[in-house]
Amino acid sequence: MPRCQAPRGTRDLLPAERAAFARLERIALDLATRYGYQPVETPLFEQSEVFERAVGAATDVVEKELFRVHAGRGDSERERWALRPEPTAGIVRAYVQHGMQNLPQPVRLTLTGPMFRYDRPQAGRYRQFWQFDVEAIGDPGPGIDAEIVELGARFFREAGLRDVVVRLNSIGDGDCRPAYVERLRAYFAGHADRLPALERERLAADPLRLLDSKDPLMQALIAEAPTLTEDLCPACAGHFAGVRAHLDALGVEYQLEPRLVRGLDYYTRTAFEFFRPLEAGAQQALGGGGRYDGLVELMGGRPTPGIGFGLGLDRVVLALAAQGAEAPPAPHVTVVVVSADPADTVTRLRVATDLRAAGLAARADLAQRKLSRQLEGAARDRAHFAVICGDELSHGQVQLKDLEAGTQRPVNVADLARELLRAEGQHRHGPA
Ligand code: AMP
Repeated sequence: MPRCQAPRGTRDLLPAERAAFARLERIALDLATRYGYQPVETPLFEQSEVFERAVGAATDVVEKELFRVHAGRGDSERERWALRPEPTAGIVRAYVQHGMQNLPQPVRLTLTGPMFRYDRPQAGRYRQFWQFDVEAIGDPGPGIDAEIVELGARFFREAGLRDVVVRLNSIGDGDCRPAYVERLRAYFAGHADRLPALERERLAADPLRLLDSKDPLMQALIAEAPTLTEDLCPACAGHFAGVRAHLDALGVEYQLEPRLVRGLDYYTRTAFEFFRPLEAGAQQALGGGGRYDGLVELMGGRPTPGIGFGLGLDRVVLALAAQGAEAPPAPHVTVVVVSADPADTVTRLRVATDLRAAGLAARADLAQRKLSRQLEGAARDRAHFAVICGDELSHGQVQLKDLEAGTQRPVNVADLARELLRAEGQHRHGPA
């Protein structure tokens, strides 16, 4: 048993798995760029207040799962910090802090990175996980709502994941939600004897939260709970109709899910989630998002609408594997530089360094071992070429061995990088 292990609920992403994440990150960045969303980074931790305000003090994410950070003793900057459980709060904090309200609106931003929740670890639920996030701040919609839902659906499609379902709802606003919340309160209060203790506590603070309960005992009650759809105020009903009309025009399929709420306080109007069906009628959430028209103001900015989503990359990687998708290859070098003289690591390293400087992925064999062993190592690394340095080097030549074709020929060192780049290009795109 090794002395130290990765903390419970976290994983090391070893090269094969890191390659699967890197592929998703590339797809995410490429898509976000095509849609005009600019990458930003915010700190991995913020003042806890950022999350308490934005996400809501009575939510699972803050109440049970916030990963609080305590600075070392004697730290004069000691504050109450927390690792970010989700990206929106930090991005909106940055939007307000940096006066992005004065830029042309909406401001389209994207971030992909780790999030932290102090949750009970289980399959697909980690204490550190990755999200691909987009936010459009400063546009009341409904067009932008559809743009964002469509972007999310396209992400899953480009990742190669089948059967992802979009669930859509409107959770109203300050005009129509309060009456609905009271109807919900009355409904759940009428079934108080069937409520688990935690849900009974929450009923007083926020009955909406009960709709989001993962407790299996709650599912039958939730299925019968009143919905808001018929009682949306005219502005919210019009907005929701607009979102659906835009999605219909784009050909994005969705299911209306009148009891879908999101576990965070800041959502208004549009709420959506991406699901994947599992065995036996179960399903897995792959991501979700919604509109947060009150959040910028809550963070101290001018009243400004916004909408975004966060998609869980860990679950996408797992889902792709479960679907039997071929894992992307871990990156490997094109060339390995070997030599007949086991001791001559200087030459091998020098030649490899020149190739790297020319833009090739090259490794020098730095073990002092026989040529045949060095070549075996090159094949094991799945390198396409081996450059063999020997006596001919005094005449400015090396042997270039094509490990895939099994052929070998002398090449002038001065031409080596060019030859390899040309061969690599032909290999990638086929002969001209
Ligand atoms: P949420 O904001 O909780 O709806 O999270 C959005 C997405 O992030 C979920 O649909 C998951 O794909 C992913 N996610 C949330 N929490 C975790 C976790 N603890 N471990 C792995 N993925 C998570």
